[in-house]
Order: sequence, then structure tokens, then C-alpha cells
Amino acid sequence: MPVYTNEQQAIRQWLSKPEPYFSACGCMGAQDDQPLCPCGMQMVEIVSGVYYQIEEHRSSNGITHTAKRLCEVAEIG
Ligand SMILES: [Zn+2]
Repeated sequence: MPVYTNEQQAIRQWLSKPEPYFSACGCMGAQDDQPLCPCGMQMVEIVSGVYYQIEEHRSSNGITHTAKRLCEVAEIG
């Protein structure tokens, strides 16, 4: 079993989902305990209780992804 870093795991999770459908959320801002507004959350994955923001980089060599640690998921309750 390969071992992935949380960043790699976040990218894998994101890639396993359908293409995000980018629609304007009207930028109502972050909802509830989420770190970003709804459209921004389409690029966010949770790994081990931490939000990671996926960034897509397009170059002549193709598309690569990186994940940036945002913050911990707030405790419920
Ligand atoms: Zn938005």
C-alpha cells in the first residue's frame, strides 16, 4: 500500500470526484464553519480533519495539482 501525504490524499480525493461545476455563488461568503464560500469549497477537500485547497496548474506539460493546508475543521458541537 502506498503511503500518501495528506496533501497527496486531498488531491486524490478531489480527482476522484466529478469535475466541479463552477457556478457563481454570488459570493455570499463562507457558510457556517466552512473556510471558503460555496464556490471556493468546490476546490477544498478534508483529510484527517484538515481542509486542503486544491490548486490546478496548467502548463505545456499538462495539468498538475497541489494542495494547500487551510485550517482544521471546526469541532461539531
Ligand atoms: Zn463564491
